[in-house]
Amino acid sequence: MKPLRIGIPPNYVAERHYVLHIFLTHFLGIPFELYHHDEPCWRIHLDENHAMVIEDAFFASIPEGETYQNSKYIPQSIKKQSQAVATIEPLIILFGSDKLEWHNRENRRELVWGNDLFAATFFMLSRWEEVVYAGKKDAFDRMPESEMLAFKAGFYQRPIVNEYLDEWVYWAHAMVPDLPVRQQSFQIHPTHDIDYLKRYPNYPSWIKSSLGAFFRGYGISTSIQTLVEGWKVLRGSQQDPFQSFERLSKVNQQKGWKADYYFKMESDNADYQWEEDWVQAWVKRLQAQGDQIALHPNFGTYRNEKTYREEVERFQLKMKFIPKVRQHYLQYDLAITPSIQSKMGITIDSSLALSSHWGFRSGVCYDYPLFNFQENSISLISEEPVCWMDTAAFRANPDPDSFWESFLNAAQIVKRHRGHFRFIWHNNHFALPEWKRISAQYELQLNLIHQLQSSY
Ligand SMILES: [Zn+2]
Repeated sequence: MKPLRIGIPPNYVAERHYVLHIFLTHFLGIPFELYHHDEPCWRIHLDENHAMVIEDAFFASIPEGETYQNSKYIPQSIKKQSQAVATIEPLIILFGSDKLEWHNRENRRELVWGNDLFAATFFMLSRWEEVVYAGKKDAFDRMPESEMLAFKAGFYQRPIVNEYLDEWVYWAHAMVPDLPVRQQSFQIHPTHDIDYLKRYPNYPSWIKSSLGAFFRGYGISTSIQTLVEGWKVLRGSQQDPFQSFERLSKVNQQKGWKADYYFKMESDNADYQWEEDWVQAWVKRLQAQGDQIALHPNFGTYRNEKTYREEVERFQLKMKFIPKVRQHYLQYDLAITPSIQSKMGITIDSSLALSSHWGFRSGVCYDYPLFNFQENSISLISEEPVCWMDTAAFRANPDPDSFWESFLNAAQIVKRHRGHFRFIWHNNHFALPEWKRISAQYELQLNLIHQLQSSY
């Protein structure tokens, strides 16, 4: 395909190039070449006679000599574009207005948008909001989600970048029906963080778990079940219920899904050691069935190159290739972590998820390369965003019905945008009393989302 010509103002060229590259080329398969003009807009020439013009509502507003990377440039409120046609709800406007007008200019027909969807896409994908955040962090050194614009304005459960893509394609095709656009397809990706592998690591913990079940109100029968189960595990006549790999694999294999398993390299306070034979036996079995064995770097590694390298080396004692990583507790500093990961030879990260609700932390359900804030360029790290995590859904919806409703809901939204439904289910949640009412439905609920894959 011949590259589309795109005119942009000559400031923030790296940022503009990044967002156009991700939006048009990476997501839609449309190549482009840039030229500079002195108008405050992004002009995309779809062909000789048609152009899409997006008013430059954000970068044009930053005074020369200043940087946009300042919390004062984060919108205080949002607007809605009610004229949107490709989405059910009005489009979100972070920067600009709801103007949508046809103009004739020179020999061209132009559609002029007031909604600066490229600036909004850059805001969501680069996460510069998190980079400039200087307020109080949470207990895990993360920006509190309640401070994020998407939460304050209530759109965190909408993949707004995908909405912009759908709207953009709709109007592009209204002007140039045969403009070739790459279609993505709905995919389901189960992922599992292996934080714990032993419900009964020793006799004291066995007693503690059994009494705990009773004193936390799960009843005498749960308590006795726990007592019996723990006894069998410690005597070696039953597998520890945290090692639920067979149950997980059975579902995934039935559906034809390959899963990602993130293993920890932690040595202190861990209930398993990566090098141990029984751990490696599980690793080999998972690998043999085509699942990915990935690295789950521990607390603090997200900004500590030295400890990161130690974990990478430890992983590589058993496995040369690190297909991807997810930081434990989703600790991720967008200004630092990607460059540490790059130095380790890592190319895929899957840490961008929400921890208090399900939703779209970077507003998208497609994989995409991050923005490199240190070099102002496209990062070498590709992000595989997660939109639903069991613990986060549990926090917001602890009863089984609304918990699983959130799961189906998230999958349906991703399906609508032909995106990647990547979710986190922790292997130990089949075994804990507080999770049993929920986890009993695991297979049933995965059947439901699997049906989405075959229906239209
Ligand atoms: Zn973890």
